[in-house]
Amino acid sequence: MLVALDLEGVLIPEIWISFAEKTGIEKLKLTTRDISNYDELMKGRLKILNENNIKLRDIENVIKALSPLEGAKEFLNWLKTEFQVVILSDTFYQFAGPLMKQLDYPTLFCHELIINDKNQIMDYCLRQKDAKTNAVAAFKKLNFKVIAAGDSYNDTGMLMEADAGILFCPPIKVIEEFSQFPVVHNYDEFKNTLIKTRASLIK
Ligand SMILES: [Mg+2]
Repeated sequence: MLVALDLEGVLIPEIWISFAEKTGIEKLKLTTRDISNYDELMKGRLKILNENNIKLRDIENVIKALSPLEGAKEFLNWLKTEFQVVILSDTFYQFAGPLMKQLDYPTLFCHELIINDKNQIMDYCLRQKDAKTNAVAAFKKLNFKVIAAGDSYNDTGMLMEADAGILFCPPIKVIEEFSQFPVVHNYDEFKNTLIKTRASLIK
């Protein structure tokens, strides 16, 4: 059995929100929780970065000062003893690096930023469209039973594709729209729900 886990909002803080708080650029606080169309969200972010002459290194400096959410590392260590674990994220390898180090480098499938020689973020390159959902579908083809868990709109595709889905601290809008999934609010509840879910899938 494999757990496909979202990253931001589940194990680490939202990188764009942290960066917005640091820079005071309010518009950068919008995330997949607010705008469900990822391309629209990313194009908007890149435009704002460009207008404010913000380089990759400026964002990296903020990320270096971030830590995983409290208890996240212990939770992930526990999870790895119980399941195969793959983190499926819509962040970018350039952003995730320093935080992955703090989580002992779990397996991470995410996207890539396109940077020019002036350190400007020019564009982004998705691994593929609906990468999370497609990864879960591929794991199922490899005969894994998959439990997917995440907090946001960009996780709902993989939650629906998986054999079972769990929402971790989602916004109210997501709970209402996707009421078929159990909701957990902390890592203890998350562990209990994972164990119960596994038992129901083994039956
Ligand atoms: Mg998330």
